[in-house]
Amino acid sequence: MAIRGPEITLPNQTLYEMLKQTALRVPDHRALIFANQEITYQQLHQHVLTAMAAFCELGIEAGDRVGIMLPNCPQYVIAYYAITGIGAMVVQVNPMSAAPELDYLLNDSGCKMLIAYDPLIPLVQSVRPSFLEHLVAVRLGPATAALPDGAVWFDEWLAGTTVPADFQIPSFDPAETVAVLQYTGGTTGRSKGAMLTHRNVVANAHQSAYFVPGGIQPNDVGLCALPLFHVYAMTICMNLPIAFGGTSLMVPRFDAKEIVSLIERYQVTMFPGVPTMYVALTQVLTPGSDALRSLRVCNSGGAPLPVQVLHRFEELSGAVMAEGYGLSESSPVTHSSLKERRKVGSIGIPAPNTEAKIVAVDDPAKELPVGEPGELAIRGPQVMKGYWNRPEETARTLVDGWLLTGDIAVIDEDGFTFIVDRKKDLIIASGYNVYPRDVEEALYQHPAVLEAAVVGVPDDYRGETVKAFIVLKPGMTVTEEELIAFCRENLAAYKVPRLIEFRDELPKTAVGKILRRGLKA
Ligand code: AMP
Repeated sequence: MAIRGPEITLPNQTLYEMLKQTALRVPDHRALIFANQEITYQQLHQHVLTAMAAFCELGIEAGDRVGIMLPNCPQYVIAYYAITGIGAMVVQVNPMSAAPELDYLLNDSGCKMLIAYDPLIPLVQSVRPSFLEHLVAVRLGPATAALPDGAVWFDEWLAGTTVPADFQIPSFDPAETVAVLQYTGGTTGRSKGAMLTHRNVVANAHQSAYFVPGGIQPNDVGLCALPLFHVYAMTICMNLPIAFGGTSLMVPRFDAKEIVSLIERYQVTMFPGVPTMYVALTQVLTPGSDALRSLRVCNSGGAPLPVQVLHRFEELSGAVMAEGYGLSESSPVTHSSLKERRKVGSIGIPAPNTEAKIVAVDDPAKELPVGEPGELAIRGPQVMKGYWNRPEETARTLVDGWLLTGDIAVIDEDGFTFIVDRKKDLIIASGYNVYPRDVEEALYQHPAVLEAAVVGVPDDYRGETVKAFIVLKPGMTVTEEELIAFCRENLAAYKVPRLIEFRDELPKTAVGKILRRGLKA
């Protein structure tokens, strides 16, 4: 039987209406802090209005696609709210994209305009398609590149725009209008744009707020170190504080030492991170330190949080962690644990207004009972409208209104969900199913292991065999034989890695997820 999160009332509004409502309610609250500068809600609202007028003046219309290729900075937020405010779509572009990736994304989405960080302008020019009519560059310090013909600086462009007295804010249906094309590998195939509507993303900000004890408070400061082009940061570090009048402290990149000092300096109360960030923080925190005592909410999401990492971080920081789960196709949050009601290793319970069930991997119509692993399926107001221009993949992923997540999970008798692993990461060794996550959890328990990633590699005899990639803690040593012996004590024989490779670091995505695919290659 499907399980359901609690029922809450969700507003029927656009992203811009959500921002405006907050700006009218708390105009003088700090919305953003960036590079020692503060922007209030009133100022943010004014910048967004100006940018909306500027986009309209350029001829950007409802339905057009406008790419944002920026690190975390206030211009990101202004552009995002202005583009979506006029009914156009934000295309989220990873600023670390290589030329072929950028080329693919601009073509797939059909971007008419791109707002890019100025050091990236030469890269953009190298792939610029003819339909990309407008290029706007953002500088966060002295300009690093000369602008090509026709391109403009974001700051000068807005400074030269006056909002006409009769400026009409475009009105549209939040449930139907796509706000964001969130590119993702999804469960199969090439990267594709998940179409997230205004209703999807506004709902998800409210659904996520349910998991913040007491809700977002006026003095809450959230740290935005996750990149905003990723759906996790988009909702949790940007839309969530904006919906409730919190403050977002934006940092362009994650550096564990710097993060600790920023948390102390700004008395940060909320820190959303991915597991590898928490691993890095455990390396710089000293036992008994109270540097992080201002934190009241610590979330991990985006990838499985090894139980050992959770315990170590809590021990060192004194904070209590909550693990959440989601994916690009669901804006992203579908589950989270509540810090006072959690089961370690579980992603918790469904978000408000969200239903979850487990279905057979090869037959989504067949629902599985409590305790049986299968594919996690989700239904709720945060689930995407479909993939951009990909009707077949949409039909395979959205079945009878349910989103097939591609993740294998179990729901226990108390309604807590445990992610076993991703369907596509399953290793089949001598006919046995081995989930990399199981093996990684065992490896993390070894005192010398800092990071672990497990993949299947071809094997003449077993079909596939289990291989582990390990990063050791500084100053620690362990041999391949010792680690294998350790796994033998903690895992069934067929799951024990046959091969171990030590590395100085593991490949990660821009958001900090360990890239198992990269290791396999
Ligand atoms: P993305 O669309 O890039 O956000 O990736 C979504 C995928 O990340 C999900 O389908 C899961 O495989 C994985 N994921 C997210 N959160 C968790 C979590 N708490 N535990 C395990 N896997 C997770």
